[in-house]
Amino acid sequence: MATVYTGWQQRCRYSVAANAAVRLGEGSCLPSAKMGSRKKVHAFVRVRPTDDFAHEMIKYGDDNKTIDIHLEKDTRRGAVNNQQTDWSFKLDRVLHDASQDLVYEIVAKDVVSQALNGFNGTIMCYGQTGAGKTYTMTGATENYKHRGILPRALQQVFKMIEERPTHAITVRVSYLEIYNESLFDLLSTLPYVGPSVTPMTIVENPQGVFIKGLSVHLTSQEEDAFSLLFEGETNRIIASHTMNKNSSRSHCIFTIYVEARSRTLSDEKYITSKINLVDLAGSERLGKSRSEGRVLKEATYINKSLSFLEQAIIALGDQKRDHIPFRQCKLTHALKDSLGGNCNMVLVTNIYGEAAQLEETLSSLRFASRMKLVTTEPAINEKYDAERMVKNLEKELALLKQELAIHDSLANRTLVNYDPMDEIQIAEINSQVRRYLEGTLEEIDIINLRQIQEVFNQFRVVLSQQEQAVESALRRKYTLIDKNDYAAISAVHKAGLVDADGHLVGEPDGQGFGLGVAPFSTKPGKKSKSKKMFKEQLSSSARKEGASSPLSGKDLDVSASKTQLTPSSKDGDVKDMLVRDRETSNTEPLASDSPKEELRPPRPSTPPAKPVAFEDFKNERGSEINRIFKENKSILNERRKRASETTQRINAIKREIDMTKEALNLQKSLREKQGEYENKGLMIIDEEEFLLILKLKDLKKQYRTEYQDLRDLRAEIQYCQHLVDQCRHRLLTEFDIWYNESFFVPEDLQMALRPGGSIRPGMMPLSKIVSLGEDDQDRFGQLQQTMLPEGPDSVSFYNAKVKMEQKHNYLKTMMGLQQAHRK
Ligand code: ADP
Ligand code: MG
Repeated sequence: MATVYTGWQQRCRYSVAANAAVRLGEGSCLPSAKMGSRKKVHAFVRVRPTDDFAHEMIKYGDDNKTIDIHLEKDTRRGAVNNQQTDWSFKLDRVLHDASQDLVYEIVAKDVVSQALNGFNGTIMCYGQTGAGKTYTMTGATENYKHRGILPRALQQVFKMIEERPTHAITVRVSYLEIYNESLFDLLSTLPYVGPSVTPMTIVENPQGVFIKGLSVHLTSQEEDAFSLLFEGETNRIIASHTMNKNSSRSHCIFTIYVEARSRTLSDEKYITSKINLVDLAGSERLGKSRSEGRVLKEATYINKSLSFLEQAIIALGDQKRDHIPFRQCKLTHALKDSLGGNCNMVLVTNIYGEAAQLEETLSSLRFASRMKLVTTEPAINEKYDAERMVKNLEKELALLKQELAIHDSLANRTLVNYDPMDEIQIAEINSQVRRYLEGTLEEIDIINLRQIQEVFNQFRVVLSQQEQAVESALRRKYTLIDKNDYAAISAVHKAGLVDADGHLVGEPDGQGFGLGVAPFSTKPGKKSKSKKMFKEQLSSSARKEGASSPLSGKDLDVSASKTQLTPSSKDGDVKDMLVRDRETSNTEPLASDSPKEELRPPRPSTPPAKPVAFEDFKNERGSEINRIFKENKSILNERRKRASETTQRINAIKREIDMTKEALNLQKSLREKQGEYENKGLMIIDEEEFLLILKLKDLKKQYRTEYQDLRDLRAEIQYCQHLVDQCRHRLLTEFDIWYNESFFVPEDLQMALRPGGSIRPGMMPLSKIVSLGEDDQDRFGQLQQTMLPEGPDSVSFYNAKVKMEQKHNYLKTMMGLQQAHRK
């Protein structure tokens, strides 16, 4: 008999150097798979027990992994015969006289247990007919002890489920037969399945490969699973009689689908896996010469599908190959995601131990060796449960909203709504943006991120509307020509309608449409407007006196850098005014402006007490400043009153909002209890609730308006307070000047100090000037205290430092002058 295996070498090894992972896997077969680590396919050989074992030809190595084959030389080939006669195969384990128990332990146990962790697994039996594939895979169905991998795998799966109460694990099974490139559902006979109308097809999707039309059965317990297995086995046998199918010529794939979800965690992740248990058709080569008709067809199909399987496996074993021909036949296509790839893969090669079958045995062992070259990269099949994910996200969202509410209440922020905006709210924002651009709204309050985004959005909306408005206005006035439309431009040029700059001749420049930046001062603004109005109010009251009192709000401004004795050339300065008054009264005793100056009594020998003198001063020279001071104070008080009224109103509105909200919530919960009505996706609510919603909207609007008013008032109060403080300071300063002038500084020195006088600032060394006595300072302090109508607030501290410096400078100077005079 001519051997098909020829070669130059006498002895060749098909073994592949076993890697560390394989060595580790000894005995227990599969080391626990780590995701991402490559591992080889595990190939085992199982020898069918026989009384006629070919001891001369088949030898096992001591390592239980090596199997050596020796063939006698074919003497018919003549003396020069380089026919190969010896082969040595190194596999993962040689199973000789191994019990079904042991075979399961070594071959399948780890693959199954890893399937429960999310790794796909494939166990295949390969070999010639009668070598024991079905015995290994299914076993003797009539004898429990001799049951094969399949029932044992089911048992293990259910046992592991019991051991994992933390997980909800579902098990489904399907049983597919591929015969002559046709797919058959071995479980289609079940009453609830019924025969398939359309032929089954293999479908690929991102989740993997599945057989469309194949029935998949949920099994909650071991017994159900066994029933399904037996149903399939029975159908396989029946088919071999009724359809004249040779069961050894078909491939059978029993698949266990596992899906595990954590019971304790609300994790949306879950794992899925499948275990493919494949009983391949007999691998024996069926000589064409000996076959005809149906047998020939079967032979062709089997040989083809097994050789395609082999090709796919060779391609999988070749790291350089990126295309694996899976689609060449139904077998490889159906097993596409179960061969190599990310699954744990195991091959059992069933061989005869008899000499007569040695050639097929050799062929099977070669297949096993090639299979061993294949590496896989087992990985967990993790999936996301969309429904659970949505639920989790909803939960998270609710939690974050609560968190926000807490934050808001801590930060004293109330009434912040984080829900998506409705049309009314968006319209409100649009109006705010418009008012802001017009200048009638000074600021847009920041409420939340959603609102900020909407503000930006509305800016864009308004901008594009304005652009359109500008363009249409231009179009009404001008004929617009496309800049790139040269023909049109030159036509217009020719007609003499356009000058060099592109302006239409005869069109007055800058008329019709004023574009450009408006001067800042003309930019309207609520705050500036109100401030302006307020200032006018102040100054007009100050001007009531006419030309003699050229004081205004602005004039009250005291520059911090100015010392009290520096005469300012600026018109309208209070001091200047006083100096002028004094000059007028002295040089021109006209006295109509200041009759009190004229009537001033002669200087007493002892100066009066400061509080008494202060009252005199207020009626005399300080009367104008005092009047302005009082007026400003009354305006300030009026604004304060208004602010407090507004605050009260805001609080009242807020209380009402809260009440309305409560009522609305009550209505809502009532509605929910009574059951909700929906119409085309719209919630139906009763009138009462509707009115409440309207009321709430209205209240919120009121709240916003009032709040805006309050903000404006506060700004005015701050400004006004500043003016009052300045006035107060000036009053005190002027009083001191007056007091010293009236009772201490001699007339001649006073004359010298006046503008145009002989003493100029800087002539008096400050080192020579001593400060006032402690008593005077204390009294002055007390005076100031009594002067203060209200306690000092933040605004009144505004110029505190400056005031102190000014006071000290002035008093020191005056003291110095007094001492110089005494000397
Ligand atoms: P295959 O499926 O490969 O065609 P089978 O599994 O049907 O072969 O085996 C053919 C026969 O050999 C069956 O009667 C089976 O019981 C028997 N057989 C196979 N292997 C063994 C074994 N390891 N121990 C006992 N009997 C076996
Ligand atoms: Mg069989």
